[in-house]
Amino acid sequence: MTRNTVFSSHSHISFEVFPPKKWEGFPNLYETLDALRDLSPSFISCTYGAGGSNSKKTAEIVSYIQNHLHIEGIAHLTCAALTEESFLSTIRTFREMGIHNVLALRGDKPADMSEEAFANRTYKHPSELIPPLKEAGFTVAAACYPEKHFEAASMEEDIHFLKYKVDQGADFLISQLFFDNDIFYRFLEMCEKAGIDVPIEAGIMPITSPKMIGTTINLSGASVPKSMADLLARYQDNPEEMRKAGIDFAIRQIRDLRERGVDGVHIYTMNHADVAKDICGAL
Ligand code: FAD
Repeated sequence: MTRNTVFSSHSHISFEVFPPKKWEGFPNLYETLDALRDLSPSFISCTYGAGGSNSKKTAEIVSYIQNHLHIEGIAHLTCAALTEESFLSTIRTFREMGIHNVLALRGDKPADMSEEAFANRTYKHPSELIPPLKEAGFTVAAACYPEKHFEAASMEEDIHFLKYKVDQGADFLISQLFFDNDIFYRFLEMCEKAGIDVPIEAGIMPITSPKMIGTTINLSGASVPKSMADLLARYQDNPEEMRKAGIDFAIRQIRDLRERGVDGVHIYTMNHADVAKDICGAL
């Protein structure tokens, strides 16, 4: 994937999916992917377990996206539990399966890994994966955090290490989800000042049920603006209206981002093609 094919249009849309828990869930996911293909995304990415447990599933799914749907597929790859051997064999598998785009990540400490093993992991940060991946011919993306990564002492420190990922060869960045566009615009300004000159995709998560918001905030650390809090309070007992209002919120966010000319919008679909379809239809 070259920059030109990923960024085929300004403010394009891309999607993220995750592997089903069981292999029996694959036919359903393939139906979801077929439906997402019809929305003409620039790419579809697929997550990877922090401990590498889903690596085969991720590879299968991205291969389906790339080779069957003929859309650019991006395989997430976390390094928290990678050894040099498992890294090289994963790269080999990806290549053999026709995958050539990777989102290089650290991942959080896997549940079955001790603190000590995590502290002594082979690859400390995804910046160490980027040069070998580039050398092997992959296009490489990295993650970024408009509200800073929870471990970073400051936004400045986080951006310093983000710049390092770009200097190591990251071709573009995909952001953690956020609900307040002003936070993203401030982040873009900081990146520009730091000399980060690669495209930055804005991560958008449509909140379609009150239950989703708790998990989402826990995992992402995203702050909830008053407009989102009001919406949750208003529709918490009305799932149908909540779904509509959550989709509408995402549409308004995306419209504003596009008006401001962002590089692209990456939708965390949570494997709900119907939600992605409603959003793209409105856009
Ligand atoms: P890093 O870039 O290593 O950043 C983590 C912390 O280390 C930050 O505080 C950063 O400032 C600091 N840091 C970075 N580089 C250095 C350095 N060289 N030296 C010292 N400190 C440094 N998790 C999964 O398990 N599977 C997935 O598929 C997945 N997909 C994701 C997709 C996106 C778009 C995003 C935003 C996150 C995703 N995550 C996923 C979550 C991610 O793994 C976690 O947020 C993790 O805690 C950090 O990963 P990272 O790649 O940003 O790490």
